[in-house]
Amino acid sequence: MARTTDVRAAHVRWAFFFVTTPPFAGYCSPVPQLMFVHHNEHNRVNVSVYREVVMVELRALRALRPVPDQLGSYLRPSRRDHKVLLQMLVEGKRIGTGLIADPCLADRQGDLLDEARRQGVETVLDSRAVDLSTVGGFARSGVRELPWAGSEPHVPVDLTGTAGVLAMQQLAARVETGGHSAVLAPTHYVEDVNDPWLGVDGELTHQLRSALDGRGLQQVLIYYPVVVRAALLHDADFRDEMVAGLAGLPIDALWLRVHPFGTTTSGPLALRRYMEMCRALHSLGVPLVAEHSGTVGVALLAFGAVGGIESGVTIAEGVNLDSYLKAPKPDGKPFAAAPRVYLHVMGAFLDAKKAEAFFTNRGMKTTHGCSRSDCCPRGWRDMQDNPRAHFAAQRAREVAGLSVVPESLRAGYYMENFLRPATDRALRAIRAEPSLAPARKRLESWRGTLGADLSANSAFTVSAPAAGKRLGRIA
Ligand SMILES: [Zn+2]
Repeated sequence: MARTTDVRAAHVRWAFFFVTTPPFAGYCSPVPQLMFVHHNEHNRVNVSVYREVVMVELRALRALRPVPDQLGSYLRPSRRDHKVLLQMLVEGKRIGTGLIADPCLADRQGDLLDEARRQGVETVLDSRAVDLSTVGGFARSGVRELPWAGSEPHVPVDLTGTAGVLAMQQLAARVETGGHSAVLAPTHYVEDVNDPWLGVDGELTHQLRSALDGRGLQQVLIYYPVVVRAALLHDADFRDEMVAGLAGLPIDALWLRVHPFGTTTSGPLALRRYMEMCRALHSLGVPLVAEHSGTVGVALLAFGAVGGIESGVTIAEGVNLDSYLKAPKPDGKPFAAAPRVYLHVMGAFLDAKKAEAFFTNRGMKTTHGCSRSDCCPRGWRDMQDNPRAHFAAQRAREVAGLSVVPESLRAGYYMENFLRPATDRALRAIRAEPSLAPARKRLESWRGTLGADLSANSAFTVSAPAAGKRLGRIA
């Protein structure tokens, strides 16, 4: 059953809650706060924060509130991210709720994944099935050496029958040796409703469950990536077919790899349609996770469209399958993108050089510098010296902060505590760094689209949190 939350009613009533961990550092003090949320005469959400509160009463309130499931915050470390993330874990810093494990980087990422597991952070093995079945993906480093790879990019017939069973046994064996808590089902890029991969992927998912169970890994979760073009998933007929096809699969969450969608491809129509698509999928009753969604993913979480988000470490904020579907250039060489500096106050990135110049402008250190001593003790300098750590800590904090806000209040909370001030601050930021202009436009566009959604929908369905729980078979 899909969960429904009545957003407007929750705001019309005076509601109160308090948070001990502010979601968006810089706007809230780190002390517990009492907040009142209500609609004013213009039907806009007001949020008032009262810091002078009687702590005894707060403690009593805290005891009455059940601890909600955490929203999912997954990072996909690339070739050079493992050392920073490991350091953060060892220092007891939060990096999110899960890590995506790349089987081609198993040697590099082993220590990081061991420590993550030890601390209760999910480790999710990616089979790289999309790489293994596309011309561009197959050429990537290490892919063709995977035990379940073919000698050419896979086509559906390569993974049907006993060949599929063998491949799933090999994948389950890797889950076991890696000690992973979950695995992405080996799903493939689907072109249309008649695509043979749809049936094959369903069968492979059953076989993977059997192979895991056969090894005593009943507790390992299976997440099912839906890899499609956005236009296809917006088609209600296709969606209905897909939902019917997913019925009965032993999956614990649906991951959305929707091309093209992400922070830089979330114009008004794209964002509205993505949210509508998610709400249509809520009927499946499994958590949704927006892959490569980045900053716009936080908005999707706040509005209940998804229960988890995933991105790279300062990169991979959008899904683009073009490089998989096209043959690689013959002279193309792999390169690791340099980390970017995350301006958390407005949810945007700058490359290292621009960030350096940006912070020399008057007022920018104060407004955009990190003020968390547990994240960047030297403020804006640490944001530049260790951009990966700053980003991972901030993103984890943003998601964890939303998790503690009651479901029905998250959308209004996000609008008032992040989007409105971010838009205002972006205005000054582009005077210092004109290349931030698209980021400012994006924020304004989201504000319009999301504000309209909040006004139009007094109640909407909400994804279950992607909290790493075993669901088993969907009905
Ligand atoms: Zn920081």
